[in-house]
Amino acid sequence: MRSLLLVALAAAWLGGYALACAVWPFAACGRCDGTGKRRSPSGKAFRACPRCKGTARRLRTGRRFWLWTRGRAAR
Ligand SMILES: [Zn+2]
Repeated sequence: MRSLLLVALAAAWLGGYALACAVWPFAACGRCDGTGKRRSPSGKAFRACPRCKGTARRLRTGRRFWLWTRGRAAR
């Protein structure tokens, strides 16, 4: 019954991940390394990162799923 154990482990991991995404819904934006800025080549000028719109954070995939399962009203 090794497959059953694997399923149980996967379910436990998913549950922990879902809980973590509920408590810590954001991760640092990978495009701007969590700065929220996109530097110009000179390094002095910058604009808001287009991916995170200058917030420097992104919603984690698990959080998206969390919101999706709860529907639009819970947002
Ligand atoms: Zn960004």
